[in-house]
Amino acid sequence: MTNKLSVTRATFDDVMVPNYNPAQMIPVKGEGSRVWDQAGTEYVDFAGGIAVNCLGHCHPAMVQALTEQGNKLWHLSNVFTNEPALRLAQKLTDATFADRVYFANSGAEANEAALKLARRWALDKFGPEKDQIIAFNKGFHGRTFFTVTVGGQAAYSDGFGPKPGAIEHVDYNNLAALEALMSDKTCAIMMEPLQGEGGVISPDAEFVKGVRELCDKYNALLIFDEVQTGFGRTGSLYAYQQLGVTPDILASAKSLGGGFPIGAMLTTAEIAAHLKPGTHGSTYGGNPLACAVAEAVFDVVNTDDVLAGVKQREQLFKTTLQQINEKYGVFQDIRGQGLLLGAELTEKFDGKARDFLNAAAAEGVMVLVAGPSVIRFTPSLIIPEQDILEGLARFERAVAKLAG
Ligand SMILES: *Cc1c(COP(=O)(O)O)cnc(C)c1O
Repeated sequence: MTNKLSVTRATFDDVMVPNYNPAQMIPVKGEGSRVWDQAGTEYVDFAGGIAVNCLGHCHPAMVQALTEQGNKLWHLSNVFTNEPALRLAQKLTDATFADRVYFANSGAEANEAALKLARRWALDKFGPEKDQIIAFNKGFHGRTFFTVTVGGQAAYSDGFGPKPGAIEHVDYNNLAALEALMSDKTCAIMMEPLQGEGGVISPDAEFVKGVRELCDKYNALLIFDEVQTGFGRTGSLYAYQQLGVTPDILASAKSLGGGFPIGAMLTTAEIAAHLKPGTHGSTYGGNPLACAVAEAVFDVVNTDDVLAGVKQREQLFKTTLQQINEKYGVFQDIRGQGLLLGAELTEKFDGKARDFLNAAAAEGVMVLVAGPSVIRFTPSLIIPEQDILEGLARFERAVAKLAG
């Protein structure tokens, strides 16, 4: 047995790099959509580990997959392939536009692979001039230096020295601005099919179609970052399936592992051929434990039952939030798709989303923010109706305190 030291939130400040500022309480146990902290206080979880715990905490199918695989084989590296990775890749390609999969360990790594592949594809096919990558203001694609530079928030990418080049940004939903930037030098467009971190902002239908047309016109690849929107979050396996637009490359992570770290880049056979042996890699990518868990998540999530359930839960969330708003008038907009929902605060509460998050936690419900003025909800895709109502009742008490 290991010697279990007693630790508290104060320990964090003593031993951790201060790049995070976590809550004062420390969660120790979760079951479904409920979580308990060290003191035994119970919370309803509407945060879902930032859109990760798509089947809640400790789902039996995931626990079973993890323990079964844990007793068989943990790790090999990519010197060998393994059965869980092959099965998961087979299921992902059968269920999507893609023919080929590259496994990574996070969303940033899946996007990093997507960007490197796009650059290599363009170099091979058109030469070194075709290197321009265009992305969108307020977009978020991860924290590696390439992905954070492609992300549309300079505050996250500044201060680390020279950035990767040939990356430009325009406003989301502004097709004319995008068109003005594009040329035969454009290698790829990277976008979220619904901006999550940037404030839960949906694309206009004509905008997404227009982006696809511009990519086709200039021989540029369309990369969808579905790290947050993917794996059932918006009510289809991937968000692109409801948009009528198919990307060339898709990045998946977060819900893909349901809480076990894994990322995946999906693409066509023709594009994938440009990542020849040795061009890219990862020691852990395609790890058997991660893939076994993700396969179990896939089997539960990719069913009509669960996906239709996401839409029903979306309606319950939206109508109940509207009822809260009728009483307190704190939101100017309640939006989002499936169980990636945002409530934007009125001008009076501008910049105060974090106060709502803290007040909600004090009432026993975990929520997220998306920027300074949007409260974000990304619960389990199978959260029971009763937990939604109980969590929103607690949330209403928090709202009453701040608005009263
Ligand atoms: C969370 C997120 C990422 C980064 O994923 P990590 O696993 O933290 O690297 C990238 N893109 C989007 C859209 C995300 O929401």
